[in-house]
Amino acid sequence: MSQKLDNKIAIVTGASKGIGAAIAKHLAAEGASVIVNYSTSQAAAEKVIAEILSKGGNAIAVQADVSKRADIERLFTASKSAYGAIDILVNNAGIYNPSPIEDITEAHFHKQVDLNMLGLILTTQQALKYFNEQGGSIINISSLVSTMAFPGLAVYNATKSAVDSITRTFSKELAPRNIRVNSVNPGMVETEGLHNTGMSEQSKSVAEMTPLGRIGTPDDIAPAVVFFASNDSSWITGETLFITGGLR
Ligand code: NAP
Repeated sequence: MSQKLDNKIAIVTGASKGIGAAIAKHLAAEGASVIVNYSTSQAAAEKVIAEILSKGGNAIAVQADVSKRADIERLFTASKSAYGAIDILVNNAGIYNPSPIEDITEAHFHKQVDLNMLGLILTTQQALKYFNEQGGSIINISSLVSTMAFPGLAVYNATKSAVDSITRTFSKELAPRNIRVNSVNPGMVETEGLHNTGMSEQSKSVAEMTPLGRIGTPDDIAPAVVFFASNDSSWITGETLFITGGLR
């Protein structure tokens, strides 16, 4: 039976855990060959690969810190050697560090901006050399916080507002090449990152504020990425899709 992404090649940044891992698995389940990028968690990335292969899919893991240009170049070279030209780029890698205004430092600012914003731009720029001639699809993982300000997250919120703006800008710049650019904006999602940053402590109160009564799971988010990656969304570009259980 044919699948939505047969013969497509996809790169997912930050795919060893959380939302990125779910996206990699859903893309592979629809027939895409997937490059599972990770920064430090090799064992977790290999677990994602093993799960994809066990279901008959194709995937390889490539280590690269996508806040660094040289690493990004290496990611695309490795991807080209394995699978050739790409069709889909998912800019998922991102970090969120809570901090009240008094404690914001230059290091706190640069860590988040260098990955969430600059890394996303540099990865997209590099990807353009590797997209196949027919064009393709770029999906940026933004956040509910791009428009709904959560206190204690000023820098992170700003990076995600920037991601929405970059999505709209690149959608116009890249439309002539038939490369569509959309963003998926999750509300709070249960992931390792959420626990590591201590933000899971707020999950009960966020669930109570949420019309659908719970926080999200990575599997709530990944199907929308498959939609934007596939021809089902062939006339959609520059959009931001909020997946938040109704919280806005
Ligand atoms: P997570 O559980 O912390 O996982 C982060 C992933 O990104 C890991 O695979 C990590 O790999 C990778 N990563 C971190 N730094 C990297 C770097 N410099 N280069 C390459 N990969 C890197 O995060 P998550 O909660 O799934 O969040 C994923 C995305 O969704 C982020 O963009 C986040 O802003 C967004 N988001 C999350 C939520 C939420 O509530 N969870 C809500 C809205 C939006 P290593 O472990 O190998 O470093």
